[in-house]
Amino acid sequence: MQRSMVAVRTCPECGSRLGSGTLGFVTYLGGPRWYRKRTTLALGGQNVVPKPLGGMVWIDGFRCEKCRLLLLHY
Ligand SMILES: [Zn+2]
Repeated sequence: MQRSMVAVRTCPECGSRLGSGTLGFVTYLGGPRWYRKRTTLALGGQNVVPKPLGGMVWIDGFRCEKCRLLLLHY
């Protein structure tokens, strides 16, 4: 029997199997940005996905509902 080439994603916190899905953002001013820490005016940050023309941005990933943890691929 051949081993699956797709690794089962497990939660780094509890080791449970992660559920796959996509995180959606409704955005008209720009895409989601990554900040090393929270800022008052949301200045700085880095775009993690291409800036949309308007509408939705989707980021695929995995989720552990137990730990409330998201593992996102951008
Ligand atoms: Zn977990």
